[in-house]
Order: sequence, then structure tokens, then C-alpha cells
Amino acid sequence: MTQPWFATTFPADREMVVAYFCAEFGLGADVPIYSGGLGILAGDHLKAAADLEIPVIGVGLFYSEGYFSQQITSDGQHERYLPQTGESIGATRLLDATGMPICVCVEMPTGPVYAHVWRIEIGTVQLLLLDARIPENTEEDQGITARLYGGDRTMRIRQEMLLGIGGIRALAALGISPTVYHLNEGHSVFLQIERLRHAVARGRSYDEAFSAIRASSVFTTHTPVPAGNEVFTDELVREFLAPYAHQIGVPLERLIALGKVADEPDFGLTPMALRTSTFANGVSKLHGEVARTMWHGLWPHLDVDKVPIGSITNGVHLPTWQAANIARAIDQSDRDLWNAHRTNVGHLVALASTRGAVAGAHPQLRPDALTIGFSRRFATYKRAGLLFRDPDRLARLLSAPHAPVQIVIAGKAHPADTHGKALIAMVSAFARDPSMAGRIVFIPDYDMRIGETIVQGTDVWLNTPRLPMEASGTSGMKAAINGSLNLSILDGWWAEGFTPDHGWAIDDGTRCGTDDEQDARDHASLLTLLETEVVPRFYARDSQDIPPAWMHMMRAAITDIGHDFSAIRMVREYAQHLYVPAHRSAVSA
Ligand SMILES: *Cc1c(COP(=O)(O)O)cnc(C)c1O
Repeated sequence: MTQPWFATTFPADREMVVAYFCAEFGLGADVPIYSGGLGILAGDHLKAAADLEIPVIGVGLFYSEGYFSQQITSDGQHERYLPQTGESIGATRLLDATGMPICVCVEMPTGPVYAHVWRIEIGTVQLLLLDARIPENTEEDQGITARLYGGDRTMRIRQEMLLGIGGIRALAALGISPTVYHLNEGHSVFLQIERLRHAVARGRSYDEAFSAIRASSVFTTHTPVPAGNEVFTDELVREFLAPYAHQIGVPLERLIALGKVADEPDFGLTPMALRTSTFANGVSKLHGEVARTMWHGLWPHLDVDKVPIGSITNGVHLPTWQAANIARAIDQSDRDLWNAHRTNVGHLVALASTRGAVAGAHPQLRPDALTIGFSRRFATYKRAGLLFRDPDRLARLLSAPHAPVQIVIAGKAHPADTHGKALIAMVSAFARDPSMAGRIVFIPDYDMRIGETIVQGTDVWLNTPRLPMEASGTSGMKAAINGSLNLSILDGWWAEGFTPDHGWAIDDGTRCGTDDEQDARDHASLLTLLETEVVPRFYARDSQDIPPAWMHMMRAAITDIGHDFSAIRMVREYAQHLYVPAHRSAVSA
């Protein structure tokens, strides 16, 4: 149900229009133009903005092959790309007044690249998607929007030029004049080049143009992991930006300098986004601190706590992620809530028993056993292997006669991430290891649909990132609002969300020694918690076979985390602290 929250709260700012740029959007499993947390967060952001009638327009790319679908064999992950069309994801191709497709053009070193524009409506919000697979382009250029995060360095910069510059031109072609630009992660940063070009063409000096675009820009950084803070060689960036520098009338090196940090050889999208945005934030309180330290080099004269990067902690869209029976049962008796949750565990057990029977695995799951979920991208820092450091100890835990435990795992590794793929091969091998008795299941092809069943159908949500690399994480919030108790490293959102009522903290949130020493300590803490706290509490039952202490925690997690970590709270903060101030400074500039 939508509510005119924005118009009511900011009656004087009705002219605000926020263009929200992102390389991926996770709106639902039937719209596969996302890979993981960043995209799903962007999807939840648009949905919550629509709920509150905040004037936001999403801008992204339409990927004709999307992100890959994953198959698991005995040697691990295999990728398959499936062609899709705008129509197949429920989008509409936008036409001009004469009935011809709206077509934007972006100059690149190989010549002009054209794109059509698709639109998806999410209630009061629209999402525009640029599509280069059109006859106006050469065969090679049609591939620019084929695959999310695909291709080599040249392909990456071509996609990002199309997203940023083409996105601004698509808005202009539609007669939309945003007052605020939100760069959700650095991929879209070249939009600032196009905005500078516009401002200079309207008669401003470069310095005036720069101040104006900066004042109306919001940048959100989403990860301290290097792969998420893309860099290009200066040569490659020079090749792409040279004609734009010429049109703007500045030396090319001035634009190159926007992406440089002292001593770093390459051009970074994050430094450029930070330099060209007055408003910048990380995605949890802890990540804000990490980002201020990480990017201190851009403001060497400031104390680190004065580095202008704040934080807004991520949230999740409750109507998307919370099971309807849990939303109902939270106001009912313990028995009702417990039964609703066991029903959801039953759905997961059914899914995992069929979909997990791959590559010689024989799942042996039951709906009444303590069910642990671990599903996320297989990026190295998420340490999917941590749980398996001592397989014998794990096997004893899973097979205790009166207190069985089962683990459901899912996740994809980026096709070029050999280490992530090796982890998938290793973890999925445990699913067919007889000593684990079929109690570890790997469900292939993790996506939003499987994710929904997993977050709704587990008792415990396990997360073991290497501190402090998990900027926020959102899957744990989705699990919590469904009554799953988090068992996680004190990183990202959990450093804020943890209380002994909501779940368990693995280790104490400090770092020690080498990576291997840290892994050993975290593993010991995890297994000890499982053996001495988690499993005993789950199996401590009353006369109705309900675990009272556990129920108390479930209720607290559903209620408190649903309140504090909802996307509604998140987009309100974006509006109050970033969008409206950026809008006001843009209007007065
Ligand atoms: C929520 C979600 C993510 C993000 O999960 P994290 O563990 O927070 O990184 C990734 N993929 C899917 C399908 C999700 O639903």
C-alpha cells in the first residue's frame, strides 16, 4: 500500500526528481538482470520509494543474456547464459511521438553506439533500461549489453560509458530533468562527464559546472572489496574520454585526475564518484568507518573521522521478503508462530530434497530438524569454507541422535573467480560425502526465488565474512524477519543488529593475527556456539514440543529487525539526509 509520505513530509520539495543509477536491479526472479546483494538492494530501494511515493527514477542496463544460470556437477559450477528479451522481463520499449523507438547514442573510440530504452513500472516508480542489442549497432556493439559484469576491461568501460552517458541522454530524450543524481556504486560515474558537458554547453565555466553537478550528486559505496571498486588503466580511460574532454574544453588530464589517488597507478571509479559528489555514504555504520579510512587519501588534510562519507544502513523490502504466514502469525500464539515457521521449513526441505539431488548427492532432510542456511555469492571474503575446517567435528554435530542439524547452501561464483569456483566444488562435495549423512545440501542456481524459500525456511542464518569486508549484507535481515536467528560475524549490519535476543555473534568483532589464525579462531567460536548454545536451545522443548527460549528470540528478531532494517526506514533516511539536501542545493545553485 502506498502512502504520500514524501509529499506530506516535504511539501516544499515537490519538484524533486531523483535519478537512481545502478548496474543491476533485482526486482524479482523473473527479471534476471541482477547478480547479488547490490542489485537486490537497488530493487528493494525502488520498491520502497514507490511505497512512499518518493520521486525516484531508476536507470540501468537491459542485459540480453542477464546473469548466468548455474549447474552443479561433481567438478563444481558450470555457467549457462539464457537469451531474454525486454518483453520476456515484462518491460515496454519506449517510443517517440512518431512511434519510433527512442534511441540514444554514445560516442566511443570505435564509433557511435546506440541504445533503445525499455521501461518497467514498479508502482509509482519507473525503471529505464538501455539496450544495445538493436540493428543500428554492429554485431560487436550489440554485445555491450549482453552480460552483467561480463567481458574484458574494454567491455567493462564500454558498458559503464553506456550506462552513465547513455542514461543521462535517455532521461533527456524522455523530457525528464532530474534534480538529484544518485550513483549507486561507481559503475555509472561517467554520467558526471555528460553532466559537465551539458553545463558547459549552457555557458558555465568548468569550475562552475563542476560545483553544480557535485552539489546535486549522491554516491553510495557498497564494498571495501577491490573487485567492487573498479579501476582502469589511464590509457584506456584516456581513449574513451578524449572526445568528451575536448567538448567540455578542459585538458584530458583534468578528467583523468578525478579518478586518481596518490600513488595508485590506475584510474578508479570510486575516487571519481567521491570527488564529484557532495553527498557520499557507506551502507552500515561500520562500513562508513571503513570507507572513511579507505578513502582518507582523497582528503589527506582532514582527520579520518572528518572524511565526508557518512552511512545509511541497508534495509530490506518487507512485502517482498517476509512470508505472509509469518506476518500474520507474529500477532498470534507461540504455537501458531512456530507452526507457521515449520511450514516454511517444510517448503525449503521439499525444494532442497529435489533440487539438491544433483551430482550424486542424496539429501536426507526433515522439517523438524534444526535447519541452518548459508546462501550468498561465493566471494572469497565470505569464507564459505570456514564451517568445514574440521569435517569430523561438523559430522558429529549434524548426526547427533536426538538433535539433528541440517545445512542448506546455495550461491554462485563470478565466472572469472577461480577461487570462488573452487570453494563451490569443495562445499558441494560435502553434500555427497557419506560422513555428512545427506544433511548438507547444495541447491544449484541461487536466485531471488530460491533465496526467498531459503530465507523463509531456515532456523539459523549463518554468515562468516572476513571482518570488515561485509559492508552490510542483507540476507541476514531477510532471514530475521522470517524468524530465523542470525549466527554471524560482527560485521556489516550485524554489528548494529546483534543483541542476545536476536541471535549470536561469532567471535568478538576484533581482528587478530594472520588470516589463517583469524579463521581458526572464528571457526572455534562458531562450532562452540553451535554445540553449546544454538543446538541445545532449539531442542529445549516445553510440553507442547515448542522451544520457549527460542520462540522469545524469534519474536524479538521478527519485530525489531523488521522495524530497524526495513527498506522503508532506509529510503526515508536517503530522502531526509541526502536527496532533499541535494535537491535544495541544486535548486538554489
Ligand atoms: C539478499 C540476496 C543477496 C545478498 O545476500 P548477502 O548475503 O547479504 O550478500 C544475494 N543474492 C540473493 C538472491 C539475495 O536474495
